[in-house]
Amino acid sequence: MTASLSVEPADLEPGIDLPRFRDRFRAWLRKHSDVLAAWRDVHPASLEEALRHDAKLLVLLWESGWGKWGWPEAVGGAGGAAALRSVLIDELWAHDIELPHQYDSIEILGQMVTDLRPDLAQRFFPALATGRELWAQGFSEPEAGSDLASLRTRATPDGDGFRLNGQKIWNSLAAAGNRAFVLARTGTPESRHRGLTMFFVDLDTPGLVVRPIALASGFNHLAEIFLDDVPVPADRLIGEVDGGWAVLMKLMQYERGTYAWQRQAKLLCRLRGLVSRLDTDDPAAPAEVGRAYLRVLATRAKTANTVRRLDAGNTLGPDTSVDKVLLGAAEHAVADLARDLDPYGFLLDDSAAAAHRYDDWWFSRATTIFGGAGEVQRGIVADRVLRLPTEKG
Ligand SMILES: Cc1cc2nc3c(=O)[nH]c(=O)nc-3n(C[C@H](O)[C@H](O)[C@H](O)COP(=O)(O)OP(=O)(O)OC[C@H]3O[C@@H](n4cnc5c(N)ncnc54)[C@H](O)[C@@H]3O)c2cc1C
Repeated sequence: MTASLSVEPADLEPGIDLPRFRDRFRAWLRKHSDVLAAWRDVHPASLEEALRHDAKLLVLLWESGWGKWGWPEAVGGAGGAAALRSVLIDELWAHDIELPHQYDSIEILGQMVTDLRPDLAQRFFPALATGRELWAQGFSEPEAGSDLASLRTRATPDGDGFRLNGQKIWNSLAAAGNRAFVLARTGTPESRHRGLTMFFVDLDTPGLVVRPIALASGFNHLAEIFLDDVPVPADRLIGEVDGGWAVLMKLMQYERGTYAWQRQAKLLCRLRGLVSRLDTDDPAAPAEVGRAYLRVLATRAKTANTVRRLDAGNTLGPDTSVDKVLLGAAEHAVADLARDLDPYGFLLDDSAAAAHRYDDWWFSRATTIFGGAGEVQRGIVADRVLRLPTEKG
């Protein structure tokens, strides 16, 4: 791939710092702008097509070496601070290059396996990083979303391993995925979060069925997962038996950190695109753009701090619910702005940029639901960060 697209490899010294990495990567992006144009102003018609196209960029970044920085050598990376990856993500969006859809999986689940099961990461992570595989999160159930600790999918010991029975729903990227992290009950029905275990499950295991959920956007982004006596070997446990909640909490840190970081970088990119097309005769437009811009910058400032804390090895606390609330507001603001500045084009223009505005708007509606609904996050901020008095006083 690298040879056919003829880009030169990254030539970096070990221990490179963030500003130098940024400068060198910018220079590389400028130098290979013609090759990278394949990922600008494109809007594939389906998720499957998008994933195939995006996989080519993942291979290009990996084989040229840039995508390896910030990942440990044990999983095929080039080492260095994890924050180097945040710089790469920021610069891709800053150069109007659409970040591969697989990045959600790579940055959240890839990081989690690398931390908790380096042996599995060594085996499977390079395939994830180069788009040959895609991993999904199988946590929510029809009766267990915000109250995830009430989930009912059961894991029963069977020989050396377990058998899974139950149903998951709203699983991002599962319809095109190869593996999923499935949270299941190993304790008593009353054990709540203390009786859950995390499994790394192959989606082609007999007894497992993935059914896509039709969305208004037309993209097969979400799916249901049905588990009927699905065997999972003991070496596919992530964390301890009954220790799944701790694994989930670790995962949420990455969702608040690098995932939020990549979203704000995307929002800045979209805002730049909107400003470049701004109707200068519309007197309200500058103020509307300014308001959306402030929301994105507030998210960027808070998330940058979160990414830095993660990079320094700190455990994140309930204050990252603030990141989630800020991000949700920024997502809504930018998507609504894109619609309001050009309502006719929003519905009828068939350019790639307009298709993105349309998709982004649909997706933005869900950003205050997934990864912890907005109301729940505000509850956490009120109770655990601000320690506001309860209704009972
Ligand atoms: C686009 C998208 C992608 C998703 N991806 C995944 C995925 O990959 N994997 C996965 O496992 N799940 C995923 N989810 C599911 C998501 O995590 C849940 O939808 C979310 O946790 C909310 O749960 P619920 O839908 O059951 O709603 P409910 O929990 O039933 O909530 C309904 C409403 O009640 C409110 N509410 C609930 N409890 C409280 C409370 N204590 N205080 C105040 N208000 C409350 C909520 O805020 C919400 O407005 C995804 C969802 C979406 C929309």
